[in-house]
Amino acid sequence: MFTGALGLHYGLENIGAAIVPSSTGNSEKQIMYMKDFGTTLLVATPSYALRLAEVALEMGIDPVKDLNVKIGLVGSELLTDSMREEVHKFWGKDMLVTSNYGMSELMGPGVSGECEYLDGMHINEDFFIPEIINPQTGEVLPEGEQGELVITCIKKEGLPLIRYRTKDITRLNYAPCKCGRTFCRMENLSGRSDDMLKIRGVNVFPSQIEEVILSFSELGPHYEIVVEREGYSDKLTIRVELAKSTDSFTELDNLTKSIANKIKIILGLDAKIKLESPNTLKRFEGKAKRIVDLRSK
Ligand SMILES: [Zn+2]
Repeated sequence: MFTGALGLHYGLENIGAAIVPSSTGNSEKQIMYMKDFGTTLLVATPSYALRLAEVALEMGIDPVKDLNVKIGLVGSELLTDSMREEVHKFWGKDMLVTSNYGMSELMGPGVSGECEYLDGMHINEDFFIPEIINPQTGEVLPEGEQGELVITCIKKEGLPLIRYRTKDITRLNYAPCKCGRTFCRMENLSGRSDDMLKIRGVNVFPSQIEEVILSFSELGPHYEIVVEREGYSDKLTIRVELAKSTDSFTELDNLTKSIANKIKIILGLDAKIKLESPNTLKRFEGKAKRIVDLRSK
């Protein structure tokens, strides 16, 4: 399950909204719910919002005319301007599409979100104290400078976090906002200070993939992680070298399936595994560049 769902569930109950819990997938059923209940707010990753619209159209339901969704609260993936345009294309130009930010360690969704003026995500400063630091030195940077976001939770119980390094790179804006809210705003993330990847909204550390690869004696230590965009979804491909060449199709097929299965268990993601002959992948002097992220291209 997506951890964000629990935070939203109890938060929405708290404001008196009716909740219809639903697991991931089952897109047809979710669209039926949206139609039957006249749902006005959609909370999703931007790519799932697009996927839902596609499924609706396949079912003969026009998301703009036949559904009643007025606000799209999207998060967990970067919402670029072009992605926001795509969401409008499917859900109508009048839908308010806001970008939102949170992380499981801090309480899931709700750390910050855009208001109707779409000019940076207001950080809920009654809950969180934000700071921006230089990720190399740890020094606190002056207002408006770009650096790593560090957050202290003021009210969280059970797992208090003090000056927690999010590893997300952004900058803070303390200028007053047109909406009247006085909470500062953080701009869209421009990257990470570590090598974590977001694939289909799931946090992936290359070290997790490496651990799986190293657990197979049939594989060598050389690999490459390729992330691409296919339609509105991210596609993960892992290219890995065999330790020894083999011509046995059955052996290769079984090995591919076992690796994919182990990746699925650890990351919760489907990955395409491509086995390569020994000594075919690029070698590096110094720090290896094992991640090829083609999504922004
Ligand atoms: Zn505002």
